[in-house]
Amino acid sequence: MDLKTFQIPGFDHLTAGSIYCIGRNYAKHAHELNNPVPDEPVVFLKPRSSLLFGNGDVFIPSQSESVHHEVEMVLLIGEQAKNISASDAFKIIEAVAVGIDFTARDIQQKAKEKGLPWSIAKGFDTFAPVGNFVSVSEDIDLGNLSIQLSKNGNILQEGNTREMIFSVEKIVEYVSSIFTLFPGDLIFTGTPEGVGPVKKGDIIEAELGNQIFGLKIHVSN
Ligand code: ZN
Repeated sequence: MDLKTFQIPGFDHLTAGSIYCIGRNYAKHAHELNNPVPDEPVVFLKPRSSLLFGNGDVFIPSQSESVHHEVEMVLLIGEQAKNISASDAFKIIEAVAVGIDFTARDIQQKAKEKGLPWSIAKGFDTFAPVGNFVSVSEDIDLGNLSIQLSKNGNILQEGNTREMIFSVEKIVEYVSSIFTLFPGDLIFTGTPEGVGPVKKGDIIEAELGNQIFGLKIHVSN
């Protein structure tokens, strides 16, 4: 396949919208963290301050001893929309990219135990790197893309978007039934199994669709 990847002109911290994320959307990942497989999508948000556009440095915050990588397919919303049916979902998706939902697992674990929100665990600066986009008008099947992450050259996460419990169509239907979506919003669609810690000096490479989408991150502090 020869697909054109691109940065969105003018898409930055000031113009990005809401960042919705789907948790536990691959059964084996839900199991590896001892979480139940959900019967409706688990939704949380990351702040736009967590975005990192393209390759760069992710910073480990002083507040965490355990920052994990989660490779994910990321959808870019292109239209204002509410109550979109699954069959219309692709009309409002402008483009797709690979991203990483970095997570301070120790902070998240404490929050889970206390029934508190995950905003801090998921929201530190640079915790949401997103690579170049590909237009969904291109010949691309979002329901059948390989997804992979390697650390220092070793593949740790490997899956396919067909393993998602909730498909792209279902996610858009569900999220838009609650929130009005706007151009510039992003949706992180969940991670396959194999999440694990990163440390200063690590090189994290994420890939979607057999080298169509790539992202190379250097872990810093
Ligand atoms: Zn995630």
